[in-house]
Amino acid sequence: MSFSSETKLEAASFQMKKPCCRRAFISGVLLGGADASGGDISLYIEGLELAEICAKMIREQFGRETVPEKIGGRGILLLAFSSKSAGELLHNCRLQADLSAQFKCEECACAFLRGVFVGGGTVSAPDKKNYHLEIKSRSVENLSALSLVFADAGYALKTSVRLGKQSLYSKDSGVIEEFLFYIGASKQAFDFMNAKIGHEIKNDINRRTNCETSNIARSTASAAKHISAIRYLSERGRLSELGPELEYTAQMRLKYPEMSLLQLGQTMTPAVSKPGLYHRLEKICAFAENIKSKDL
Ligand SMILES: [Zn+2]
Repeated sequence: MSFSSETKLEAASFQMKKPCCRRAFISGVLLGGADASGGDISLYIEGLELAEICAKMIREQFGRETVPEKIGGRGILLLAFSSKSAGELLHNCRLQADLSAQFKCEECACAFLRGVFVGGGTVSAPDKKNYHLEIKSRSVENLSALSLVFADAGYALKTSVRLGKQSLYSKDSGVIEEFLFYIGASKQAFDFMNAKIGHEIKNDINRRTNCETSNIARSTASAAKHISAIRYLSERGRLSELGPELEYTAQMRLKYPEMSLLQLGQTMTPAVSKPGLYHRLEKICAFAENIKSKDL
């Protein structure tokens, strides 16, 4: 089962005690996943277990029996039934009516959004690098009224349009995580959170490794520059002109080309600090540059 299907199943299994919330839930499910022609409703649900929960809700709310029917592959099941009130409910959604008008208690909005997710939502598995929550509706093209319900609950989703149909989405892992908790899919929310933390640690390690690699590249480049300047002077027998301190530094650098500045500084007698050593080597370079310019 996909992460998305598991999330839907966990959310739909959340116990809603009040009848008003159960009604709000099933209207959300219909808005997300049903087509309607008048009072003839076709609700498409992923997975048998989830379809059975919805069938039970339909029986309870609209007094209609419906048996999940397999259609095509991908585990999609069809729940077909006729109900005037279910038809009207969807019709109102199409008319962009105030969707919150049907809410009777404080938890109704949450139950409704849970239903919308169960009927028309998807959430990408947290092991992917991109986080993606998306809400579609089978029968409503303009989702601005639905977007308001999400916004009122604290979820600012973005709108995208494909083939004239809108969908709402978020790529913000924090928003997705909170939304999963909100609709009662807390086990899935925890999985999501843990996977996200795992990615962040991995990214952090990668970032640090990249940083160290570029530090090494930088110090290798500067060591090469110093060594080539020292060789230039040495080939011309002009190292002694540097004075004893710089000459000793130059000889040590040539002797231990693979050492870092820190190691080299510690190998010298007396020991030299990394910045001190760097400063000396830069002085040697400047001296070599000066001679080069005169030689030319
Ligand atoms: Zn309620």
